[in-house]
Amino acid sequence: MDLRLTQARATDAERRAVDRVVDPALDAVASLNGNNGIKRADGVSGLRDEHFSDAGHAARGRRHLLLPALHAVQEDIGWISPGALNYVSLRLSVPPAEAYGVATFYAMFSTEPRAPRVVHVCDDVVCGQRGGEQLTERLSSEIGPELGTEGSGDEVCWVRSPCLGLCERAPAVLVQSTGEPDYSIAPASAEQALAAAAGGGPGADAADAAFTDTSVSVPQTPGGTGLRLLRRVGVADPGSLDDYRAHGGYTALRRAVGIGPTRVITEVSDSSLTGRGGAAFPTGLKWDGVAKAPERPHYLVCNADESEPGTFKDRVLLESDPFGLVEAMTIAGYATGCERGYLYIRGEYPLATRRLNHAIGQARQRGFLGADVMGEGFSFDLELRRGAGAYICGEETALLNSIEGFRGEPRNKPPFPSVSGLFGKPTVINNVETLYNVLEVLAAGGPAFAQIGGGRSTGPKLFCLSGAVARPGVYEVSFGATLREVLALAGGTVGEVRAILLGGAAGGFVLPDQLDVPLTLEGTREIGASLGSGVIFVIDTSADMTEILRRIAAFFRDESCGQCVPCRVGTVRQEESLARMLRRTEIGSREQELALLDDLARVMRDASICGLGQTAPAAIQSAIGLGLLSEGVAQ
Ligand code: SF4
Repeated sequence: MDLRLTQARATDAERRAVDRVVDPALDAVASLNGNNGIKRADGVSGLRDEHFSDAGHAARGRRHLLLPALHAVQEDIGWISPGALNYVSLRLSVPPAEAYGVATFYAMFSTEPRAPRVVHVCDDVVCGQRGGEQLTERLSSEIGPELGTEGSGDEVCWVRSPCLGLCERAPAVLVQSTGEPDYSIAPASAEQALAAAAGGGPGADAADAAFTDTSVSVPQTPGGTGLRLLRRVGVADPGSLDDYRAHGGYTALRRAVGIGPTRVITEVSDSSLTGRGGAAFPTGLKWDGVAKAPERPHYLVCNADESEPGTFKDRVLLESDPFGLVEAMTIAGYATGCERGYLYIRGEYPLATRRLNHAIGQARQRGFLGADVMGEGFSFDLELRRGAGAYICGEETALLNSIEGFRGEPRNKPPFPSVSGLFGKPTVINNVETLYNVLEVLAAGGPAFAQIGGGRSTGPKLFCLSGAVARPGVYEVSFGATLREVLALAGGTVGEVRAILLGGAAGGFVLPDQLDVPLTLEGTREIGASLGSGVIFVIDTSADMTEILRRIAAFFRDESCGQCVPCRVGTVRQEESLARMLRRTEIGSREQELALLDDLARVMRDASICGLGQTAPAAIQSAIGLGLLSEGVAQ
């Protein structure tokens, strides 16, 4: 490949950061292929694997290391300089313009010099209502304007962030420091955020220790009867494979191996398990399609890019029961003929990332991952890939592009990933909660699992409760429980309820007189709502509905990948309209603004490429439909 590099040269430190990622990956491929490498002009050895071949395809084979290499530079140096980009481009044979396009796609990367520490302050719908705004005001007055605005600090800085997935512990901050691991503080006081920005924060170890009390995130009794998905949370040590096994770990994989891959898929199909990521596609059907695909290799991808505002259930599972996901992915890989799995986790989950990395290492060391899993004669291994702050990468094809080292922009479908997914091969993509359910399917048996709930809504289900509830957190119920019952589990609502946002920022509202809706796919559809990502965000009458919707609109405007016009322009226009309504500077009347929002919604829903643009107006439309934005309704 003819790379047109600029004159900028990487420093030794930048080269070391890139080499730390690239060298081991190429060495691993070399040992797998009997040192079957090619030599490049600069003396760097590039090697083949199944998605890496000579000549024109060689570049593609290394490109999937682009995101990890950029992470390494960002972490070590604090920003990605033109010289570093040149070096990354050279080592991975990626055109510099494309590497720049990828680096600038993600919010956690900076291509400009910036302060060595950045405090990301969540001001999204939940944290914004629970102290996040006050945090931003205090930081602004004490250390200056937000990063990216005129006058922001060179040494100490802060920036607003979309939802950090710590809603049950609001308000939350994420601390990114050059040369040190990221960490979260939640709940964060202004003093803690200021200290962290000035370099006096607790550091990763102490910050992680503050998450030891899992009852804050899972208020249901640890190990309580009836808990399936959450049964090990707060009970088993997330850092110990032995403790995981002592609490039932790896019995599901043993059973899977005992009955064979075909029967595993039959069990999953019999369970009627549907995907928990929002689309509710039958898992058995998805697995069967990939298992039968003649093209090889097959890939497995776990979508742990949980970024929907108000959603934190995956984070709690990953932090507290990381071996569970490793086992579930091994079962999925075994059943569908995948020898390699990718676990794509959102970049804002540092503790979950550390625990998963540890769990993967332990499992590999003890023979639960690798060339001969448990001595049962099948091969499966896992690679963890960290996102870098892009909600759109939760869209499955955008996620695939992100792993492959491209901008995380959705692909047109068809072809679907089960036919042409990662590296163009048949790929199973499952959400975190879906995979934890697989352990329960194997434990109970498919038909017994299907008896929990009914219709397309079978098995246990997790909900993320936040806002005006007595005990925010993740709650597990069987499908079919009503909204009222789930709220009662959380100690009931606090104050006078105006509305409840169900399903997330792309979901809809229910009113206080609709609490008896069964929380199933069918029940919520009947009232025009959806389960989405399991969000239940309770809004009391002290909150300003227009401001909440403006924040949701700002989120989608910020997260739109910009690839298609209806979404790129529509998300801007709907935020502008809501901002005018907030300022009482409507164009025409409020009713005319609502009509404009309705028009925008129709175009975005009908003409956007992917689910982000199609559902970005959903909450706004729902609020309009329920009269929550009408003139005269107290805001
Ligand atoms: Fe990108 Fe939005 Fe189009 Fe999806 S709908 S491809 S996020 S611009």
